Amino acid sequence: MKHKPKLGQNFLVDPGASQRIADAAGDVSNRTVLEIGPGHGAITMPLLARCGHLIAIELDTSLFKELQFRFRDRRQVQVLHASILETKLESLLEPGEKAIVVGNLPYYITSDILLKLFGEHAHIDRAVLMVQREVADRVAAAPGSRDYGLLSATAQMYASVQNLFTLPPSAFSPPPEVHSSVLRMTFAPRFEELGVDAIGFDRFLHQCFAQKRKTLANNLRAAGHEPEAIRSALDGAGISPQARAEATSLEAMAALYKLLPAADKTSVGS
Ligand code: SAM
Repeated sequence: MKHKPKLGQNFLVDPGASQRIADAAGDVSNRTVLEIGPGHGAITMPLLARCGHLIAIELDTSLFKELQFRFRDRRQVQVLHASILETKLESLLEPGEKAIVVGNLPYYITSDILLKLFGEHAHIDRAVLMVQREVADRVAAAPGSRDYGLLSATAQMYASVQNLFTLPPSAFSPPPEVHSSVLRMTFAPRFEELGVDAIGFDRFLHQCFAQKRKTLANNLRAAGHEPEAIRSALDGAGISPQARAEATSLEAMAALYKLLPAADKTSVGS
C-alpha cells in the first residue's frame, strides 16, 4: 500500500481490530456515523455492515477518489473530500441530530481533532477513536495518576472516557513507531453540573496546569491571582495549599474556580 507519512497514513491491517472498533461504536443501526480518515476503508466496511448512514471524511485526493468509486452504488455512504479540521459537523447533520464519530486518527493532528470534537460536542453522541497509546493513557487518566494533566481534565469535562484496548505497531501498514489504543468517549459535558462556564473554566485549567512542577497555588500566582485570594479559595474548596493540579479532582477545581474573585480570573498572563 502506498502511503503519505505527512498525512499520518498507517493503515489498519488487522481485520479483528477493525471489527472490535466498529463494535465499540455500539448500536449504530439508525444513526449517522461520521468516520474521520477512512483511508482504504478498513473500518468503513465493518461500520457499513452496522449503520444506517455513514459520512466518511478523507483529505487525501487519491484515497477520496478510490472510496468514491468503491461506494458509488451505496446510497448509505457519503464520501467527502475535506479536512476534518475544516468541516463543520453541524452542517452534515439533521437539526438536533448527534453523530457517532469513529476514526483511526492521523496522529499528526490528534490534539487538534480532539479539541475540535470538544468544541462541537453538541453534535456528538459518542466517539470511538484510535490514538497513540500515550495520548489515550493521558486522556483516560484519573487525577493523582502519573498521566493525569490538562488533556485529561479537558477531555473529562466533555466526556466520560474508556480506554478500550491497545494494538501493536504490527497491526498497521506501514507500522508506526508507537503502540495505539482505542478510546471510547461518551459525550456528557459537566459544565452545568459543576456550575462553571466553558470558556472561563478552560482558561482556568490552563493556568492551573501551566507548570507541572509547581503547586496549584504557585501556578495561579504566576497567572496573576492575589496570594491571599488563592489561600482563601483553596481553603474554601478544601484543597491543600501544597496540592498540585495533577492530583486535584474536577469537582474541587470547579469549586476553586468559583471561589476565586472574578476580576482575577481574567488577569493578563492567563
Ligand atoms: N481508517 C484507515 C485505517 O484505519 O486503515 C486509515 C487511518 S490513517 C491512520 C489516517 C487517515 O486520515 C488517512 O487515510 C489520511 O489520509 C487521513 N487524513 C489525514 N489528515 C486528515 C484530515 N485533516 N482530515 C481527514 N482525513 C485526514
